[in-house]
Amino acid sequence: MPTTQASDDAFAEVKARVDLVKVVSEHVRLSKRNKDLWGLCPFHQEDSPSFKVNPQMQSWYCFGCGRSGDVFTFVELIEKTDKRGALQLLAERAGVELKKLTPEQRERADARRRILDVLKLAAQYYEYVLWKLPAGEPGRKLLESRHVGEETASKFQLGYAPAGRGFAEYLRAKKRSLLDAQEAGLTRFDGTDFFAERLVIPIRDERGQTLAFTARTVRQDEQRKYINSRDTPVYIKGRVIFGLDLARDEITRRGHAVLMEGQFDVITGHQFGVGNSVAASGTSLTEDQVRLLKRFTDELLLVFDADRAGREAARKAAVLAAQHGMRTRLATMPEGKDPDEFLRAGGAEALQRWRDLSDRAPAAIDAAIDYFATGLNPSNPNQLESVGGQIREYIRKFPATLHETYAELAERKTGISRHLLLRDPEPAPSRPAAGGARTGRPAPTMKVTPSRYLVQLLAVRPRAMDQLKARLTPGELDEDVREIFVRMLESYERGGAGGLEADLNGYPPEEQDLIRRAWAAPPPNVDDEVAVELAERIRLEHMKGMHSGIIRELSEAERGRDSERVARLEAEARELARAITDMERRGQTSRA
Ligand SMILES: [Zn+2]
Repeated sequence: MPTTQASDDAFAEVKARVDLVKVVSEHVRLSKRNKDLWGLCPFHQEDSPSFKVNPQMQSWYCFGCGRSGDVFTFVELIEKTDKRGALQLLAERAGVELKKLTPEQRERADARRRILDVLKLAAQYYEYVLWKLPAGEPGRKLLESRHVGEETASKFQLGYAPAGRGFAEYLRAKKRSLLDAQEAGLTRFDGTDFFAERLVIPIRDERGQTLAFTARTVRQDEQRKYINSRDTPVYIKGRVIFGLDLARDEITRRGHAVLMEGQFDVITGHQFGVGNSVAASGTSLTEDQVRLLKRFTDELLLVFDADRAGREAARKAAVLAAQHGMRTRLATMPEGKDPDEFLRAGGAEALQRWRDLSDRAPAAIDAAIDYFATGLNPSNPNQLESVGGQIREYIRKFPATLHETYAELAERKTGISRHLLLRDPEPAPSRPAAGGARTGRPAPTMKVTPSRYLVQLLAVRPRAMDQLKARLTPGELDEDVREIFVRMLESYERGGAGGLEADLNGYPPEEQDLIRRAWAAPPPNVDDEVAVELAERIRLEHMKGMHSGIIRELSEAERGRDSERVARLEAEARELARAITDMERRGQTSRA
């Protein structure tokens, strides 16, 4: 088929031009061990690296979650796109023209390229005006009054848009189309500058590409302090995190991102050494933004205004973050200052003061409970009822695995009984008893463990190994069959379906025995589907075992008041619980 041919070519061409290591490095910190590179897997929660990149083979593999593949599968998973989408992203980056784009796709890609191009020109032009032209004076003054130095300004590529039609003239001189500038939201129909008489701040993606601008007025009489680019083919507000391109390394180094409200807060943050500060630009924090941040860290330090709206926003952000397995802490600026004012007021001690504040910042859930319980009089039953109701309602917004821990925390803080805090507002629908009642294919009767059954099945049907490679890692099997499983896997990889028979004499005697017995009396159901079912069951059991281990460890950590460990374990437990639920749900639908 000619189309497949063409797209195979495209895959091959793109693959030849991009380096997997470079692509992965944008998401994972890799370090070299032997000839491979290792890092923390971006697809499952872990503390020690089991994610391996092989630069020679341009392939990757995770020993923790068993995912693996090439640069396309990596991009597919990390950008949550499909194969076609991954191809497109990588092709764009490699500068490969995709022949098989539909006319509309090609038009869109062209429009994107033109807009990105004109945005880049605009950023350069504004920056030039700010520093080199007399017209840039008001912008320079504003920066001076905000204690933003030239170095910081140039990192953010700040600029100044003069009154009139400056940018349009500039484009004309360069013989560029004014239409692109209009489409990018930079100029009006008459060619006047949309951001005229404003300090212009580029909004860039995590790779540093300018997607839009936000602009602050320099005039006292102007009502609208900030104006923003509208959404365009390259810019969707809720998808960008301001400052992330500059902050990403420091975020990884410090282990958390500082999430502020304003772009100027972030600029001042970087000026004063808070290099891990970012802002949700132009909106309250969105799901997409959390997902983006999650690629770089598991913890957010929220710095929101101390007013009612700010606190509300912080509480929402904490819930959203928790739903993506992130922890949050809340820093409160003293005397109602915003971070920008706080840092400027600190002068030479600003960074030290900031660190103190940041170290003391409580978990966002602590702060929320304290807030709800402000002024609570525990001997007043009405108050207890209403405060308890507020806390209960808030806790319920978090993932279910956190409810108990949070209710305990609230009980400790307020004296309101955890049972009251966990009480369901309405009776939950009764669930069918776990296990048992499922119909369909009768599950293999287990006189043996699922792990053992699987080994017997593989002895009879080595080909089922193909189904298992992506579904199961040896570490998930019961310990007593791990070694034999690995040996059988090796035999299969070496010799295919006949590999086991060929290698068997080299196996330890008890393993030979197990396999020969399975040959003599095969287990009742032997096919790929059973193998898959077993793998899922084994994996599920393994995860449940790990989960209860973590819960045990968690209560120990709580007794020891080791808050850092508690937070880490909570996050792990949450991640696992979610994976378990997902898996159980998938299991049910696939059997339905
Ligand atoms: Zn993994």
